[in-house]
Amino acid sequence: MGDRIGVLALQGDFAAHARALAEAGAEPVLVREAQALTGIAGLVLPGGESTTLLRLIERHALAEPLDAFARSGRPLLATCAGLILAAREVTEPSQPSFGWIDATVARNAWGRQLDSFEAIADGGDLPLVCIRAPRIRSVGPRVEVLARYAGEPVLIREGTVWGATFHPELTADRRVHRAWLERCGAAVGLEPACG
Ligand code: GLN
Repeated sequence: MGDRIGVLALQGDFAAHARALAEAGAEPVLVREAQALTGIAGLVLPGGESTTLLRLIERHALAEPLDAFARSGRPLLATCAGLILAAREVTEPSQPSFGWIDATVARNAWGRQLDSFEAIADGGDLPLVCIRAPRIRSVGPRVEVLARYAGEPVLIREGTVWGATFHPELTADRRVHRAWLERCGAAVGLEPACG
């Protein structure tokens, strides 16, 4: 078994992320309380409904422990609603967020006809499943764009915090989880290069 990797399991498609992590060689740990954050090398914030997730994070007294976890430099993979929680700023409508990644994210911003859709990332073959997905409106200077769709960033990274507007856990393609997991090892000192 590989690294123990947490998946925030309050709401949304955490089970699909846990399966994807196992397929990518990690040991998934479902996180519902602060105690579970000790002893994990990284954390996935899944898609779901970000307003509900915020409420549940408050109810489970997880806001501070999650913030401390992220700010300690341990890797995060924030997908869809997870990215909405992690972003510096959220618009359409605006909503509080943790600010772990320097990006402005607009919720439900693809409009009615493209509400949910499948596509392929620009210039490659990475499959994208977008479900009432947010759009990344702008990113700060330290943010690296790892994949785009229609010219817009859809997968970004700032240090050890990765954000995706789509659902990598809902396809059979494990490249996003694998690439992120490689950085998790780096961040906990298993590999020399820490990105
Ligand atoms: N539209 C949702 C939100 O605003 C996110 C959708 C998703 O995670 N698939 O939270």
